Amino acid sequence: MKTRDCLKTKHGKDLTFGSEEKKPTTFPLGSLPCQFWIIPSILGSSILYILSDDHWETISAWIYGFGLSGLFIVSTIFHTISWKKRHLRTVEHCLHMFDRMVIYFFIAASYAPWLNLRELGPWASHMRWVIWIMASVGTIYVFFFHERYKLVELVCYVIMGFFPAVVIISMPNRDGLLELVAGGFFYCLGTVFFKSDGRIPFAHAIWHLFVATGAGIHYYAIWRYLYRPDTVEAKTSR
Ligand SMILES: [Zn+2]
Repeated sequence: MKTRDCLKTKHGKDLTFGSEEKKPTTFPLGSLPCQFWIIPSILGSSILYILSDDHWETISAWIYGFGLSGLFIVSTIFHTISWKKRHLRTVEHCLHMFDRMVIYFFIAASYAPWLNLRELGPWASHMRWVIWIMASVGTIYVFFFHERYKLVELVCYVIMGFFPAVVIISMPNRDGLLELVAGGFFYCLGTVFFKSDGRIPFAHAIWHLFVATGAGIHYYAIWRYLYRPDTVEAKTSR
């Protein structure tokens, strides 16, 4: 029963990637930049864990590590399965959904260290939870409407990506802001290619390249400004 739900809408429309020609054209090459990031993201997350001085830093390292590594792992599994086992349509479709759901958690996880470890305004304490509610709502949306309203999907990602920034830019200590903006810029630019599959050659691979670059910049900022031992100003009171 789940199989049918997964593949068809109630109107009987096949939801497996919308249609065959809309499938990203560069499998499994598409996720190559992300495949390269799996090991570094696990190692990088371990470094943050080792550098953690207290409870909050440890929790944030776990959350961020799971979000970062999870994104690359899920993306790689999805692209590999799609390439190798195209006859497994149900698995492929569910993984495609999972690939999209994990983006919401990745965005939340990317913000978590800043919201947990930086001294921010009174709204920050709410935003710590709001981001996870947003990620959950996004996940539910993907579950029910995956690939149905593609523009809405994109708008949801953009809102999720920008909304917590309202709190982040209010932080008195602005170290790392430049890197956060730079990483966000790469993600935003990447969405142009994300939406251009089939029109621009290797668009999906380029999208992944932008994601990998944005994630790399954000990791650097988190490591440098929130975890590096000599970053005295980052070790503010929670
Ligand atoms: Zn992809």
